[in-house]
Amino acid sequence: MNTSFDLNKILRPHILNLAPYSSARDEYTGHVGIFLDANENPYGSVTTQDFNRYPDPYQADIKKKLSPIKNIGIQQIFLGNGSDEPIDLLIRATCTPGKDRVIIMPPTYGMYEVSASIHDVHIDKVSLTVNYQLDVQAVLAAVTPDTKIIWICSPNNPTGNVVADSDIETILENFSGLVVVDEAYIDFTDKASWIPRLADYPNLVVLQTFSKSWGLAGLRAGMCFASVELTRILNKIKSPYNISQPAQAALLAGLDSVDKMEAMVKEILEERASLRTMLENLSLVNKVFPSDANFLLVHFDDARSVMDYLLKETIIVRDRSRVHLCEGCLRITVGTKEENEALIDALKVYEQNNVNA
Ligand SMILES: *Cc1c(COP(=O)(O)O)cnc(C)c1O
Repeated sequence: MNTSFDLNKILRPHILNLAPYSSARDEYTGHVGIFLDANENPYGSVTTQDFNRYPDPYQADIKKKLSPIKNIGIQQIFLGNGSDEPIDLLIRATCTPGKDRVIIMPPTYGMYEVSASIHDVHIDKVSLTVNYQLDVQAVLAAVTPDTKIIWICSPNNPTGNVVADSDIETILENFSGLVVVDEAYIDFTDKASWIPRLADYPNLVVLQTFSKSWGLAGLRAGMCFASVELTRILNKIKSPYNISQPAQAALLAGLDSVDKMEAMVKEILEERASLRTMLENLSLVNKVFPSDANFLLVHFDDARSVMDYLLKETIIVRDRSRVHLCEGCLRITVGTKEENEALIDALKVYEQNNVNA
């Protein structure tokens, strides 16, 4: 428990007092009737499928299904247009542009920095250790009275590892702003989620996404779990209909198929293991880092030239070779068995050509 945390001191004062936009669907929540309140088109849509009605602004049906899956109350669930939306909203809710600060720990996911920069919020960077763990003392030393958010990504992108629970706990206990734990890859690890710990830490925020394990990146849907009070604030400042009707319908159907998600994750994990073995058997690969995610960070002798070669073969991986502490590395998403084999075959040809050269 962090006894010095006070949400009212973390929120920007005008956000605290803001009266949200009250949409037509806020003011009348019934499902039957003659709806003449939202200036919708009563005849239907130009498309074969009808999208003429505004969607539920708070996605109640989805949250009702998600709540038992994540074992957290509906009032602690915020759904966004990707997790990028809660990342942006958390900054907007807490950080006064030109004044307030956030802490990020590179190498990590780029959106924390981009979102902060868009809002002219200062970014203090505290490097991860060489083992990609938190430098807790340095993080706490970087905290100023204007620091509002510390971003932690676990499993971390692009390094793939889980961050030690005890380090996250130390930061939660000793920092009186928000500690956001981004669990975009949580379904690919057997390490526990931080969601149950929301009961202990009012300053904890957990992000998850439908974009990876659920296979729904194209829908744009992210989850944010937080205290009831903070969740209420996020709902107050989001755009009124932030998740589209077709996305809500697809999510609602998808949540009935947790078993399919788990089956795909199982397959990805098996493929992750065999891709690792195949990569480690190549002489041009120096190191495959441990991964609790659906990608592998791989160190090559000459990452840039491998990257260019793969591009010519229209195999696209992510160049992280100029990223702090990832120098010489490519980030490779675990594909299907066939895709992974195609990648390995291409790398073998590259290896052959370079030996002959
Ligand atoms: C992929 C990813 C996300 C997901 O973003 P969406 O906007 O939900 O698609 C969030 N955080 C990290 C660290 C990621 O790698």
